[in-house]
Amino acid sequence: MNQQVIGLRIKQIRISLGKTLKEFGMEFSPSADKSNISKWESGKSLPSPSRLKRIAEMGNMQVADLLSNSLKKCPRCKYEGIEPDYKFCPICGLKVEV
Ligand SMILES: [Zn+2]
Repeated sequence: MNQQVIGLRIKQIRISLGKTLKEFGMEFSPSADKSNISKWESGKSLPSPSRLKRIAEMGNMQVADLLSNSLKKCPRCKYEGIEPDYKFCPICGLKVEV
């Protein structure tokens, strides 16, 4: 499980709702501190299971989708850490299917 990818998803959900860190924190009960949310978004920590459930709800997805590891694997050099939005393998330069 890649916490940074999960953090990016959390951030995308928050931005898509047009909420600030503070406003996003108010969506939880008890509310989450904005410093907690920036830790989630930067991949430094993972929200608790009940908060993950709330985040998934806000993003209209399942918790499993929120947590799924979407890093891609390079078919040529087998590097497994290609970020979802990369179109080329950073190791060997092969074009990766999106
Ligand atoms: Zn490669």
